[in-house]
Amino acid sequence: MVDCMFCKIASKELASEVVAESDSVIAFRDINPAGPVHVLVVPKRHVSSAADLSSEDGDVLAEMFATMSSIATTEGLERGYRIVTNVGPDAGQSVHHLHFHLIGGRSMAWPPG
Ligand code: 5GP
Ligand code: ZN
Repeated sequence: MVDCMFCKIASKELASEVVAESDSVIAFRDINPAGPVHVLVVPKRHVSSAADLSSEDGDVLAEMFATMSSIATTEGLERGYRIVTNVGPDAGQSVHHLHFHLIGGRSMAWPPG
């Protein structure tokens, strides 16, 4: 999609620190990390948010979760981590291309702010 920052990162038009990649998924470090580890896991195909997923997206979602599990191991997050996706203004979604935040390396409060 034109002018979508994460589409541009997925196509390498914009630089990022990539930690994992396949034909359909890319994972890269968040530019403003909320913890010692903060990776964004993104489908290369443009999907605006989790609200726009359908049952046809099952394969890419499974791959995204498998990617996060693998990154958690690589990053040494054996004490745990959090997976978050924000949808819409109340949740504070600022980039309108689906992404899972994988955050770890510190203890976290619940509920989130
Ligand atoms: P949201 O607020 O939509 O849930 O999350 C968007 C995330 O994207 C934020 O954590 C923000 O720091 C990150 N972000 C925004 N622009 C860029 C960028 O150009 N590069 C990278 N690596 N992360 C970005
Ligand atoms: Zn996009």
